[in-house]
Amino acid sequence: MVSVLHPLEKIRTAEHLSRQELAELSGVSAEKIRCIENGTSLYKTNDSVADKLAGALYRDRREIFRDEELSHLGRPAHTSKKIEKRHKPLPLMICPHCRLEVYASDRCYMCEGTLAVMV
Ligand SMILES: [Zn+2]
Repeated sequence: MVSVLHPLEKIRTAEHLSRQELAELSGVSAEKIRCIENGTSLYKTNDSVADKLAGALYRDRREIFRDEELSHLGRPAHTSKKIEKRHKPLPLMICPHCRLEVYASDRCYMCEGTLAVMV
């Protein structure tokens, strides 16, 4: 039987991070990460959890999660520790189209509108 890895697990292992290490980088509990990877979470993943994991892995959250896995109504991050970032956080900006805080790039990952970013 071929098992399909959740993108979170694929990216995490490609970055040579254990669940515990990713937990420490992201501030999301290792247990939550395990539930997401195994698809055993009872709840949709909260947007803020997805953003923390994506930020810690330097990815757009849409590389890791399908929209239907996410909800702003999902459980908020279950955190036990303060976040200590290893990397400089990605620059954020307010999208002029949807008014959401998004990663600075040439295209808004929320509404796909064009962002005028000075790089
Ligand atoms: Zn936007």
